[in-house]
Amino acid sequence: MKLLIEKINNEGIVLSSSVLKVDSFLNHQIDPQLMHEIGKEFASRFEDCGITKILTIESSGIAPAVMTGLQLNVPVVFARKRKSLTLVNNLYTASVYSFTKEETSEISVSNQYISENDKVLIMDDFLANGQAALGLVEIAEKAKANIAGIGIVIEKGFQDGGSLLREKGYRVESLTTISALENGTVSFEKNTFSKKVELTR
Ligand code: 5GP
Repeated sequence: MKLLIEKINNEGIVLSSSVLKVDSFLNHQIDPQLMHEIGKEFASRFEDCGITKILTIESSGIAPAVMTGLQLNVPVVFARKRKSLTLVNNLYTASVYSFTKEETSEISVSNQYISENDKVLIMDDFLANGQAALGLVEIAEKAKANIAGIGIVIEKGFQDGGSLLREKGYRVESLTTISALENGTVSFEKNTFSKKVELTR
């Protein structure tokens, strides 16, 4: 997706050979116009799949998921990472190791909001080793929901998540795939274009 690649090139910061910071439009400040375009793109890729619900994980999956839900006219459910006094019973849970936080947390979704009648589109902001997506897959499976596919805003193709999920038979649609983060440079798969970005550490 050209607009997204431009945004990454202009505003992305390579923190290391495995971590890209995109706080200015996706992970802290959010660019609504870009999210709108992202929602339209995911909706067009999955419009014929009979999706009834989008399942994502807090917090950075929520913005692209809501915009996609708006386009597909379906509700969006986000798995919670923290315990909540209002979310205690009848939960589907899964353990997820966080790539960025380097800790395992239990994610949960109320059984009120996902069921065997659902066909879900799983979404997240980044795909690295696939742990967040697999946690969401586990929750959907516990609910006996059907999984239409997995939508990812930025896939890092040099990490294992994409191949792991595709080998398991899931349809993974990424709006952009990064092939390397080296010497402060973001390289994209399928040749688009890349720019030298400053190392900030
Ligand atoms: P995975 O579970 O696939 O290993 O990692 C995906 C999750 O970790 C995403 O929910 C995302 O929040 C976070 N993540 C993974 N890699 C990056 C990265 O390079 N930059 C940012 N900002 N988040 C990442």
